Amino acid sequence: MQFSEVIGQNAIKKKLVDGVKESRISHAQLFAGPSGVGKLPMALAYAQYINCKNPSETDSCGECPSCKKFKKLIHPDLHFVFPVVKTSKFKEPVSDNFIDKWRELVLKSPYFNLPMWYGAIDVANAQGSIFVHESSEIIRKLNLKTFEAEYKIMIVWMAERMNVQCANKLLKIIEEPPPNTLFILITESEEELLPTIRSRVQLVKFTGIENSALASAVKDIPDSEGKDINGLVHLARGSYLRARDLIFSDEEINFHFNHFTNIMRLAYKRDWMALFDWVDEISGIGREKQKNFLSYSMKMLRENFIKNLNQPQIVFLDEQEKKFSDNFSPFINERNIQIFFDEFEKAYRDISQNGNPRIIFLDLSLKIVKMIRA
Ligand SMILES: [Zn+2]
Repeated sequence: MQFSEVIGQNAIKKKLVDGVKESRISHAQLFAGPSGVGKLPMALAYAQYINCKNPSETDSCGECPSCKKFKKLIHPDLHFVFPVVKTSKFKEPVSDNFIDKWRELVLKSPYFNLPMWYGAIDVANAQGSIFVHESSEIIRKLNLKTFEAEYKIMIVWMAERMNVQCANKLLKIIEEPPPNTLFILITESEEELLPTIRSRVQLVKFTGIENSALASAVKDIPDSEGKDINGLVHLARGSYLRARDLIFSDEEINFHFNHFTNIMRLAYKRDWMALFDWVDEISGIGREKQKNFLSYSMKMLRENFIKNLNQPQIVFLDEQEKKFSDNFSPFINERNIQIFFDEFEKAYRDISQNGNPRIIFLDLSLKIVKMIRA
């Protein structure tokens, strides 16, 4: 991975590159920030840059023997730790048990989240962890001499999933690692890390990807043709994953469209029984699909609001959506658009953070009943 392949985040790239040029590489760093903004891709590009034999002012060369191995994730001095699950085959699992699947997923695209990783190892409903036996693996690997590289790199992805015993065993090596070692801890939730770990690492704080960079990355996705790129980028709030999720297939659009139009009609009619059935149904479709439904709904709300402003040239709706929106758009106006957005955004956040779907969707439905008549 080269910096040029990391979407946006130019200030962080510059800071990391300047650090290398000035030989200020702090040995334990924490890349913290929301999902989908490029923390793992940045860690990979940084690791490759540090060890490149022929780096330029701004990037690794991509062609030296070191770069080639980093690119394929097979450099002997590049190590990964990530959450894993106990299986019948692995009673005391460590990351290396799953390394082939990990490489496959990262090589496909380093932009993914925890549910996608669990999906890749077929454990969709499990709660993974970085278990205590991982710590002895980490310590053993870092005490090896470097094979070929300038720096041994240990990337710990979703470090907040590290269990307490594991974290405690690592305190010493994070505090005083063997020479030429770089720990990159990656987290979506800095506050879930033990304070003893946090105090030993240098924080590199990630926020959303710049809109312009995100827009050009989205344009490179084949299915994005004819879609409302700016609207999508606006809704994605700096997350490439969310932007990618907003490019729906026809089948997904039908599913979300039906659920969206239903809830809006039922809420307007105050048809409580049917509304509770709707909540029941949507509670059972799984978290990723629920998140996509909420993203789709925000897209519909946005388009209807704009339609309502009589700016048809910037409204992106397909035929069935247009037909529905002819009647629906008058209900979305400057009095309720913000609160609609806030409530859907809140539901999205709560679903992402493992809240109870039934409670979240019931609450949202009751709010819609109020908001739609506002
Ligand atoms: Zn190179």
